Amino acid sequence: MPNYTNLHFLRFLLFEVHPVKELFSYPRFAHLDEEQAWMLIESAKKFADQEMAPYYKEMDETPVRYDGKGNVLTHACLKRIIPIAAEQGWIGSTADFEHGGMQLPEMINGTAHHIFQAANNGVEGYIGLSSGAAGLITSFGSAAQIKKYVPPIFAGKWQGTMALTEPQAGSSLTDITTSAKHIEGDQYAIRGQKIFISGGQHEACENFIHLTLARIEGAPAGTKGISLFIIPKFRITESGSFEYNDVYCAGDFQKMGQKGYATTHLVFGDHNNCIGYLVGEPHKGLSYMFQMMNGARISVGLSAASVTMAAYQASLQYCKERPQGRLITEKNPLQPPTLIINHPDVQRMLFTQKAIAEGSLSLGMECNRLYDLVHAGEGDEKHNNWLLLEILTPIVKTYSAEQGSRAAALAIQTLGGYGFTTDFPVQQHYRDLKIMSLYEGTTGIQALDLLGRKVTMENGKALQILSSAIQSTIQEGITIPATTNCANQLANSLVEIQKVLAKLLPLATEGKIDLLLADATVFLEMVSYTVIGWQWLKMGIIAANQLNNAQQEKRSFYEGKLHTMEFYFTYEMPHIAACAKTLLTMSGLTSVKDYELFA
Ligand SMILES: Cc1cc2nc3c(=O)[nH]c(=O)nc-3n(C[C@H](O)[C@H](O)[C@H](O)COP(=O)(O)OP(=O)(O)OC[C@H]3O[C@@H](n4cnc5c(N)ncnc54)[C@H](O)[C@@H]3O)c2cc1C
Repeated sequence: MPNYTNLHFLRFLLFEVHPVKELFSYPRFAHLDEEQAWMLIESAKKFADQEMAPYYKEMDETPVRYDGKGNVLTHACLKRIIPIAAEQGWIGSTADFEHGGMQLPEMINGTAHHIFQAANNGVEGYIGLSSGAAGLITSFGSAAQIKKYVPPIFAGKWQGTMALTEPQAGSSLTDITTSAKHIEGDQYAIRGQKIFISGGQHEACENFIHLTLARIEGAPAGTKGISLFIIPKFRITESGSFEYNDVYCAGDFQKMGQKGYATTHLVFGDHNNCIGYLVGEPHKGLSYMFQMMNGARISVGLSAASVTMAAYQASLQYCKERPQGRLITEKNPLQPPTLIINHPDVQRMLFTQKAIAEGSLSLGMECNRLYDLVHAGEGDEKHNNWLLLEILTPIVKTYSAEQGSRAAALAIQTLGGYGFTTDFPVQQHYRDLKIMSLYEGTTGIQALDLLGRKVTMENGKALQILSSAIQSTIQEGITIPATTNCANQLANSLVEIQKVLAKLLPLATEGKIDLLLADATVFLEMVSYTVIGWQWLKMGIIAANQLNNAQQEKRSFYEGKLHTMEFYFTYEMPHIAACAKTLLTMSGLTSVKDYELFA
């Protein structure tokens, strides 16, 4: 079986760069220690090796199918994997003990899920969605709703889904039209359609709990009139039996990637017999859903980083085995060919992949650490960590997805023609990765979120906290000879961001919000390169400090980190200056009214 992740690197992240043990001093996580944490990671790896990785290719070649009668047919392995995931506690892993969870920090859960995603990202989706849906019910549902729906979801018998998108309402959830008419108590009659619903109504689970956004009759227009409902496929009668709830699956979308992961079209209430159960208060649905979506955005970032890591591992392995050509300095054609890993251009492609995969995984771990501190902490510390997480969320999602796609394209390129064939997994990684910049808010939407909301939230406090966190890493990096240059370069990139903001932000007070946001994606790109530079400097500092005392075999691991840090700062960080130049020009070239210019 090909490698799909690197356990040494995961240990480095979890125990050295973002020390998980700091969390164990909080009462919420006091039941854990490092040894237990690592045992959980090792058991996740064993599970992924045995049950997930072996089906990665097969699930691509035998995609999910719709039978034309409302049923979605999935690969047979799912019927075994979902119950094992449940039995090992991975569906309810971060939930409170009182709800049947393991109360794990997201850092440990995220590391396990990284392993699952890298092994087989299609399978992991079903598990992750159920966790998210149950989390939404435990946070905002009534005690009766928690009791009824959460245990069967954690047991892997029922699948949770997240049903927001409609044919006319994708990025713009303001335009949702699925309707809810009050019947009695928390019950509403639902009518409408949802498309692209992941994990919907497949054959591997017996019931489906769709966390659905709909508009109560007479609700205010816009996002303030959207409510959240639990809509089961089967209602549970008082005697405990199933009663069909008029949620029909009208199809499964056939896709370029993630072919083993169902993407369904659901029709609610075609026979006027679909009941939805209101979660929390009316009209607050979108704010509740944002809890799940924010977590899901970080998960998508980690997922992209994980598939990128799998593609990198596959291409690295190939390069160590494939002989081709001779070094430019070798003039004798009778000498045997060299391995391709010895060609500088191949090394450039490998280091680019490594820098992106490990940089984005480190940022994912940083976000999960903040998530845990927000949930376990109190007062100002909690609030400041929340602000930092808010500003990092669009970055972790987008950098990992966009640059991960670039890295996976390089993985194909590294293999040459074989990379394009289905004999090797890198083309599947590339196809699977593309969705990550689309769902949970496209790149364009993440960019608007960063520049239009997060940069200015609480008078710029989130941005200040991010800058201070980066500054403190810079201060440390400057004092270490191996990281001084990179630290100085990172300091310059913070200055570049300030220059850009000094020019852009006054546009808001001048009422030119359209000009401010026209190149929001370029701004997101610029900040992302900086934030990943911060992660690489963090890794470099640890590596430089550990190098002196490390045993020989660990020395090369740390040297590899320092080398990749320098590579990142030499080959990737210069993009920041290009972004700054574009942003400072404020050309207006992307705000034309005349479509003929595209002819
Ligand atoms: C495989 C798959 C699984 C999915 N799973 C789920 C799921 O489980 N649940 C769910 O509810 N949804 C799901 N989705 C839906 C997904 O979240 C949407 O596809 C996504 O939000 C984009 O919406 P859209 O496809 O309608 O594109 P559109 O909103 O039409 O966007 C098209 C393009 O226009 C750009 N754009 C749109 N509005 C703006 C704007 N204001 N400013 C700048 N650019 C803009 C976008 O960035 C994009 O490039 C899934 C989609 C897919 C393909």
